[in-house]
Amino acid sequence: MTPTPPHTMAADAGLAQTRACGTCTLCCKVMAVQALDKPIGAWCQHCVPGRGCKIHETRPQECRAFNCLWLGDPKFPEHLRPDRTKVVFVVEAGGGRIAAYVDPNVPAAWRQREIYSVLKNLAVQAAQTRRQVVTFVKDAATAILPDRDVPLGPVHIGQQIIYSMRETPDGPRIEPRVEPLPPASA
Ligand code: SF4
Ligand code: SF4
Repeated sequence: MTPTPPHTMAADAGLAQTRACGTCTLCCKVMAVQALDKPIGAWCQHCVPGRGCKIHETRPQECRAFNCLWLGDPKFPEHLRPDRTKVVFVVEAGGGRIAAYVDPNVPAAWRQREIYSVLKNLAVQAAQTRRQVVTFVKDAATAILPDRDVPLGPVHIGQQIIYSMRETPDGPRIEPRVEPLPPASA
């Protein structure tokens, strides 16, 4: 299996839809779409912001299959819909990462009190199950850890985010880093 790169709708873990997007269209801006060569952080040429997709019937499969965490998890706070917060939460990397994709026009949106609280709570839970919580403003990543936030710089297609543990006098510490993906097995 070829690992799906971060940032793309295809990387989402396939949650079932439990709500309706309504007037939200933010994933059509903040996510990349491989089939359309659409970059991360720019409106899709087929999107009418706040209205929907002009090619809904023929949109790529990765768009059809995509559900953000707000849409797919009824426990995610209803009032934190992405078009209001400017942050799209996504379960990706086969469930191994919760990524928060931020509208680049509001790059500090992930730091607003309620969103930051969600991120930190998720980071505490994730640390117990060896999962990751990462924010992206375009491709610039920040690892959200229980004890600190670590800017990782850009993460490109062909790279991955790795967490390793390091023993310190204060106990084990998560050390995140970016490195190339291993070659795909034949
Ligand atoms: S970000 Fe979520 S709620 Fe908004 S349009 Fe995309 S899937 Fe729907
Ligand atoms: S093709 Fe449609 S659903 Fe897919 S990103 Fe573009 S506007 Fe959104």
